[in-house]
Amino acid sequence: MTNSSRVYLYDTTLRDGAQTQGVDFSAADKARIARELDRIGIDYIEGGWPGANPTDDAFFAAPPAFKRSRLAAFGMTRRSGRSADNDPGLGALLVTPARVVTMVGKTWDFQVTVALGIGLDENLRMVADSVAHARTKVDEVMFDAEHFFDGYKANPAYALAAAKSAYDAGARWVVLCDTNGGTLPHEMARIVGEVITGGIPGSHLGVHCHNDSDTAVANSLAAVTAGARQVQGTLNGLGERCGNANLVSIIPALMLKMGFETGIAPDELKNLLSVSRALDEVLDRNPSRGQPYVGASAFAHKGGLHVSAVAKDPRCYEHIDPASVGNVRHIVVSDQAGRSNMVARMAEIGVDLDSVRRDALVRVVERMQVSFDPHEVSDLVDLIKRLEHEGYAYDQAAASFELLVRRALGEVPDYFTLERYRVIDERRRSAVGEWITLSEATVKVEVGGREYMEVGEGTGPVHAFDVALRKVLTAVYPELTALELKDYRVRITESSVGTAAKTRVTIESEDGKGHRWTTVGVHTNVLEASLEALQDSITFMLFRFRDTP
Ligand SMILES: [Zn+2]
Repeated sequence: MTNSSRVYLYDTTLRDGAQTQGVDFSAADKARIARELDRIGIDYIEGGWPGANPTDDAFFAAPPAFKRSRLAAFGMTRRSGRSADNDPGLGALLVTPARVVTMVGKTWDFQVTVALGIGLDENLRMVADSVAHARTKVDEVMFDAEHFFDGYKANPAYALAAAKSAYDAGARWVVLCDTNGGTLPHEMARIVGEVITGGIPGSHLGVHCHNDSDTAVANSLAAVTAGARQVQGTLNGLGERCGNANLVSIIPALMLKMGFETGIAPDELKNLLSVSRALDEVLDRNPSRGQPYVGASAFAHKGGLHVSAVAKDPRCYEHIDPASVGNVRHIVVSDQAGRSNMVARMAEIGVDLDSVRRDALVRVVERMQVSFDPHEVSDLVDLIKRLEHEGYAYDQAAASFELLVRRALGEVPDYFTLERYRVIDERRRSAVGEWITLSEATVKVEVGGREYMEVGEGTGPVHAFDVALRKVLTAVYPELTALELKDYRVRITESSVGTAAKTRVTIESEDGKGHRWTTVGVHTNVLEASLEALQDSITFMLFRFRDTP
């Protein structure tokens, strides 16, 4: 408690994060996220608002057992005209299994007189009574000072008096909230400093920042620098409007750059990426590539000069070691890249550029539908450049890149061969007169010397094809049942003069075990492009993740 370099982390993903548009956690979702937060060692996990909705009630009725974290319940101070021990809302907050309660109250005089319509003194009594009463029922009480920074700017004496009334009544933490998210880092630092001078020690002071000015992380760090020792935030910055302060960025900044300790051991910081991904999975969202520290692009190097410098020493273009937060360096292949990129990228997948044979290269190209003569290709670097010119974007499709290279080395077996297919699209009226569109695909596929034919139905041609193809393949490769297409993107690539515009399809897939990979297909026909990306996706899963006995 007296260690001034210790910062306490408070997660509100399950309460404030749940306010996000389009987010609707079930109690089971909440339990799963909470277990991840406990696993990494977050000090406090706010489970929700007991009595506010059935999901939060279900969560608090049977919260997961934590090994390290403390469960907090969120609620409001007593209402005006009620005593603290006779307020049903406050009562509901104090009877859950949570031994920590966080109560929100007003500190902005304008909100007190306008929103609540009560006297300023009555508000101070509401805060003090509620904290004092809760202290007799639970282990730890926190006070969330709503609109604190706006209130402090309008009337510093009153805002401070309200915060102090919670501290004096025994609140373990007084948490200053930038509820509207309009505060900037220099104001944050000044006001937190003044609150500490005003009588609330930094060891009892926290901040809760919103990202409306895109400075929630910076504000949180500024508050810690000014002396606050608790930071509230959410995983990946989830939260209403522009989100809450992103703990996934705050944690490594505190630990790796500012020399603070948290409840997370230094060698556990590498779990950060998997915790961040766990939230994306619950939300069924694609992880943000550009997210600092944990995004797929956070340590991706594309420019040729950057790549050769990073190969000499990664510190040339990396602010931290990616492995410290569980991420990996990624050398991007691209049209503008030099040979050094290609060599580095191939070294990353364990392939020596010189071991690629030209005759194998020609056979690889012959399988593809490209506009150049395979015999003109001089080497693999030349081939990649030609394919990128055709529209293949390998910097977005690492799995297709790896397949291309390994095919050139003769390492990829022919798991299946598509001999022919036919797709029929139909639109008709249903019996009740509604439009229905249906696709039907027939595929003929050769697997292990045998021919199979199957028919699939789907909501569109790609779907129907996928259904038909997987009917054949899952009989031979049952693990393909778990293959899920997570994202499907179509782009029209720039056409050069005199040639038809080409369509590029990228597909992101997952195998239900946390592996994700991206494949690409290019053709003038969107269906052909889709089928190429789809077949690469299936082949990559079999090649890379198949359990070979
Ligand atoms: Zn908030």
